Amino acid sequence: MIDPAFEAAVAAARKSLREGGIPIGAALARNGQVVASGHNERVQRGDPIAHGEMSALRAAGRQKSYRDTVLYSTLAPCAMCTGTILQFKIPRVVVGEARTFPGEFELLRSRGVEVVVLDDERCIDMMRSFQRDHAELWAEDIAD
Ligand SMILES: [Zn+2]
Repeated sequence: MIDPAFEAAVAAARKSLREGGIPIGAALARNGQVVASGHNERVQRGDPIAHGEMSALRAAGRQKSYRDTVLYSTLAPCAMCTGTILQFKIPRVVVGEARTFPGEFELLRSRGVEVVVLDDERCIDMMRSFQRDHAELWAEDIAD
């Protein structure tokens, strides 16, 4: 079954890669509909805070509540994005993969967030290639 919000996140990640950026995309959905999507913009905007999840949430603009939303990301959310998910009380996170970056699942789950990992081959391949070909840029993004 194709999930349009997850596909929007993957498309955003691919767009970022084409632009010379970091290939991580995200989307916010409500009732199965995409509210907004975004991708990492560290390279494109010189913005270190603009992770995929942050860009998607920024693109979604003001929301009265996030309790009926789902955040999608091609990669497991880092500590910063996890903090934002908790702050906005987003109840469910769907992740493309967590093989190339473990993220903060323990923290999310400890605070009652449902985390679903799709283990999507496209996401794994995209990040493995990127981490191999742009090791320095990847290290910069996760502050390694
Ligand atoms: Zn992040």
